[in-house]
Amino acid sequence: MKTDTDFLLHNAIVLTMDEKLTRYEPGAVAIKDMEILAVGAAQELVELYNAKETIDCEGKVLMPGLINAHTHVPMSLLRGLADDLRLDVWLMGYMMPVEREFVSPDFVRLGTSLSCVEMVRSGVTCFADMYYFEEQVAQAVADFGLRAVCSQTVLKFPTPDANFFEESLSLAREFIERWIGHPLIVPSVAPHAPYTCTAEILQASAALAIEFDVPLHTHLSETALEVENSRAEHGMPVIPYVKKQNLFDAKVLAAHCVHVDEGEIYTLLHHNAGVAHNPSSNLKLASGFAPVSKMLDAGLNVGIGTDGPASNNDLDMFEEIRLAAFLGKAMTGDPTTIPAPTALSMATRLGAQALHLGDITGSIVPGKRADIILLDIFKLHNTPRFQRDPNNIYAQIVYAAKSSDVSDVMVNGKWIMRNRLIETVDENQLFTAAQDYARRIDTFLIKREKSVLSKLIAIGGAAEAESFEVQVKVRVQDTDSIIEAIKNSSLEILHHRHYHEYDTYFSFLDTDHGFIRYREDEYINENGEVSNVRYRLTLIGPAREGSFPSDVILSRSRYIAPATHSLRFYREYFKPNDEIFIEKDRLRWRVLFQGTEFYINLDRLDQPDLGRFLEVKSRTWSRKDAENKARLAVKLIETLGASPTETVLQDYIELIST
Ligand SMILES: [Zn+2]
Repeated sequence: MKTDTDFLLHNAIVLTMDEKLTRYEPGAVAIKDMEILAVGAAQELVELYNAKETIDCEGKVLMPGLINAHTHVPMSLLRGLADDLRLDVWLMGYMMPVEREFVSPDFVRLGTSLSCVEMVRSGVTCFADMYYFEEQVAQAVADFGLRAVCSQTVLKFPTPDANFFEESLSLAREFIERWIGHPLIVPSVAPHAPYTCTAEILQASAALAIEFDVPLHTHLSETALEVENSRAEHGMPVIPYVKKQNLFDAKVLAAHCVHVDEGEIYTLLHHNAGVAHNPSSNLKLASGFAPVSKMLDAGLNVGIGTDGPASNNDLDMFEEIRLAAFLGKAMTGDPTTIPAPTALSMATRLGAQALHLGDITGSIVPGKRADIILLDIFKLHNTPRFQRDPNNIYAQIVYAAKSSDVSDVMVNGKWIMRNRLIETVDENQLFTAAQDYARRIDTFLIKREKSVLSKLIAIGGAAEAESFEVQVKVRVQDTDSIIEAIKNSSLEILHHRHYHEYDTYFSFLDTDHGFIRYREDEYINENGEVSNVRYRLTLIGPAREGSFPSDVILSRSRYIAPATHSLRFYREYFKPNDEIFIEKDRLRWRVLFQGTEFYINLDRLDQPDLGRFLEVKSRTWSRKDAENKARLAVKLIETLGASPTETVLQDYIELIST
C-alpha cells in the first residue's frame, strides 16, 4: 500500500546538505503540503509513494534552496548609483541622502520585487533582509512566495520611515506583532550597527527581539575603523561593547564580523549568534578579510550573504559561494581551507542556522519545509563529470556552476520557477518602473552636485545660519599693547578664551560656491593644556557681499555645522579643487563696545607665517545693521590703538582663494 503525497521528484542527484552531507544518486524526494515527507534512493521512494505529480528530474541536482544570509533587497533600485567610494562617503554621502529623498513604500515594494526575481533566478529560497518600510518588503516577499527574515531598521538618525528612533522602534514592534507566525516571513528588528545606534537603541532592540523571540539583525565589526572608533569611544572592540548592551541575549544575526579576534569569535559562539559573511561587499568596499575558517573551526554558524545590491552589485549567490571559498584559501594561504562542501553548506544549512531558521529550512530532511532547487549540471561550462571522488559534485557546483543553471525553484511546497519561467511577474513592467526611479534619482543628484551648499545639506550637516558678518582685520606688530588696551579701555569683557585652530579650506573651481572650512579647535586652559577639542564645518560664501571703506568686509551666508565626519570624508565627498591649511593661535574676547557685542581675536598665524592679526567681528541679521556695526567696528579697532588703513585683508583672502 503506497502512501499518498503531492510531489515525487526522482531521477536526481539529491544533495541533502544535512550534517553528514548525505547524498542519493539517483535519489528522490517526496513532498506533501509544505513539507518534505521523505528523501532517499529513487527506486525505494518510487515504490513507497503515490504522488499527484511525479517529476523526472533528468539527472539534475536536487538540493536545498540557497540562503542569502544578509541583504537589503529594496536597494536593487540603487544599484550602480555610486561606486568605487569609501564606505562612509558611499553611505553618508550618497546612499542615505538619496534614501531620505526617495525611499517610500512604493520604492521598497518595487525594489523588493525586482530582487525577488533576481534571487529566485540564482536559486535563493530564503534570505535575511534589513531595510526601511519593512512591512512592504514582507508583503512583496510573501506575495512572491519566498521565505525571509525581514528586519525593520532602527537608527539614531532620522530615516525614510521615522523621524526618531522611538518611532522606528515602535514601527518594529507593530511590524513584529503583525507578522509573527506567518508561514513565510519571520519578522525581526535591526539596530543598523553599533556606530549608527546609541547604547539605548541597542538595548531596546535586544529587549524587543527577546520579548517576541525573533531574530535581531545587525552589522558588526565591518571595518577596521569601526573597531578603532569603538576602542576610542567605549574602551573596547565592537563585540564586547554590544555584549555589554545585552545584544547577545537576543537571537543575533550579525553581518560581516570582518574584524573580530579569537575571543570575540568565542563570544559570538557562546551566545549562538549567526554570522553572515559577505565576500563581494567586503572585497568591493575593501573592508578586509573575515576570519571565516577560524569561525567555522570554532563551530559558529556562518552563512553567506550578498549584502545589498548597491554594494555588490548583484544578488548572485553562486558568485558569493565561490568567492567565500576562494577568499578562505587566499587568506590562509592554504587551498584546503573552505573546501567546496563547506562553502555549499554555508549557503544552505549553516546559513539557515545563522538566521535561526535551522529547524525549518537549509537541508533536505523529512519534516523541514520543502525549499528546494533543481540545478542542471550538464552544461558545456560544467562538462565533463567525474565520479571517482564523491565530493566532486560539490566542486562542480561551487567552482563551475552558474546561477543560470538553476532551472526550478520550490518554496514551502509551491513552485516559484519552472524551467526558468516565473509566471507570477511581468518583468517588463519591473524594468520600466526601475528605470523611472533611476531617471528621477539622476536628476536629484545632478542638481545637488551643482552646489556645495546643497551637498552639505544633503549629508544632514548644515543648519542654515545665514547672517551678515562684519569683519575688520589688521596686521599688528605688538600684541602686548593691544592686550593692555583691551583690559584698560571702556570695553566690558564678557568672555575670554585661548585656543589653537587648525583650518583646512576647500576651494572650488567655481568661486560662487565659496569655501568650505574644516576647523579643529583646541581649547587651551590656564595651565596651557588642551582641555577640549571641537570640530566644525563652515560654508563661507558665496564670497563677500562687499567691502567698506578702510577694508572692512561684510560677508554673508555662513552655514555652520559640527563636523561629524573626518577631514578625509569631506575631502572625498566635496572633491575640492584646492586645499589650504592654516594653523593659528587665537586669543579671543567677547566684549560689549558702546552697547554692541563684538568678538576681538588676536591671532598669531603659525602656518603659513603671516604674522599677527587683530580682528574685530560681529554677527548681525540685516545689511543695514551690518553697515552700522561696521562703522562701530572701525572705531573699536582705533580704540585699541590699531589702524584699519594697515589692513592686510587682501593677503588673507588671496591666500584662501589661491
Ligand atoms: Zn548590509
